[in-house]
Amino acid sequence: MRGNMINERMHGLGSQPNPIRVQYAYGLQRKAEIGEENVFDMSIGNPSIPAPVAVRERIEQLLRDEPPEVLHGYTMAAGLMSARQAVADNLCERFGIQATAANVYLTAGATAALYITTAAITHPGDEVIVNAPYFTEYKVMIESAGCTCVEVPMRPDDFQLDIDALDGAINPKTAAVVINSPNNPVGCIYTQQNIEELAALLTRKEEEYDHPIYLISDEPYREITYGREVPFTANFYRDTIVCYSWAKSLSLPGERIGYIYVSDNIPNAADVSAAVGGAGRALGFICAPVLFQRVIETCIGEPTNVDAYAENRALLTSMLDEIGFEYIQPDGAFYLWVKALEDSSQAFCDAARSHDLLLVSSDCFGAPGWARASYCVSAECIKNSRKAWEALKADYA
Ligand code: PLP
Repeated sequence: MRGNMINERMHGLGSQPNPIRVQYAYGLQRKAEIGEENVFDMSIGNPSIPAPVAVRERIEQLLRDEPPEVLHGYTMAAGLMSARQAVADNLCERFGIQATAANVYLTAGATAALYITTAAITHPGDEVIVNAPYFTEYKVMIESAGCTCVEVPMRPDDFQLDIDALDGAINPKTAAVVINSPNNPVGCIYTQQNIEELAALLTRKEEEYDHPIYLISDEPYREITYGREVPFTANFYRDTIVCYSWAKSLSLPGERIGYIYVSDNIPNAADVSAAVGGAGRALGFICAPVLFQRVIETCIGEPTNVDAYAENRALLTSMLDEIGFEYIQPDGAFYLWVKALEDSSQAFCDAARSHDLLLVSSDCFGAPGWARASYCVSAECIKNSRKAWEALKADYA
């Protein structure tokens, strides 16, 4: 009898995919059955806003003018110097930091940035803290590095970091804390005071344990805010590593382009950068997609169309106010955290699905009792979803 050599953990991850993807796949199938306009897919964070025109123009220009063997060739693992320098210049200009290309490592989106960073700064057996609700894939990423994912709930009243709870959770095994602001799934933004309190706590713990505790700042929604400022975390805590993606800000999720920023303020910055390079190698990333490195070179300053998301936010929240749903008013990103109308968030999302309204159960974000509605869909989709939301509310009358 032939032995089954399949890795059980990988088999488990593959047979039970990320619930966001499950809803998304169902949505595609359902749209084929009953028509696109009849399915209100608010499951995935795929921006409906087109990428800026400058992106298309840049791609066309590159395809026209560049020798293909150069255009499509490998780059150095960290990326093209010109693209890395463009990122560094952009960060210096916006956040008053001192950075050069050497501080920037281009990646295949934020996911690669996060996996590489986690692998670079942890050892199997370490603990990495996430603040719940948190982006689903953090747990997979942390466990893939052989570490334990420690969930610390955010403050339930204002969805800020719970500094006292973090204080209780940090111990000598803590290698890193992951934060994400603007936040997926809640849409909260941590205030400067909150970040300063976190920095003070981590600094105190670092001194107590005599080793670094890195702050992994996952920032793919940095530009998508509705009036509130997003503090640049690396300016407040020296052992910060920033993970970024243009998936949302430039509407390029499928193109896989982002970066890791390792500040020179980190006392062992050169070692961290070397470990980032090693982790990229060990995880098989080779280099970020080169065509989009070249796009970033010239398009990094392109503005994000936040107005469209602000309009969607207003449409969805006023509609849910009228129908009678409770939700958390988002300050950034493009997700609405809606209170489920029963204890089981999964059952609530199943009920929504019976009306072809696709939400994501809060369980996969480490928090029971809520559902996430992604409003980066078209305004039309939000307007047309009214009848589904009304039917869902009626189910619980
Ligand atoms: N981090 C957060 C908080 C996200 O919401 C996402 C995607 O939705 C990612 C990371 C992954 O981004 P990317 O597509 O660039 O890998």
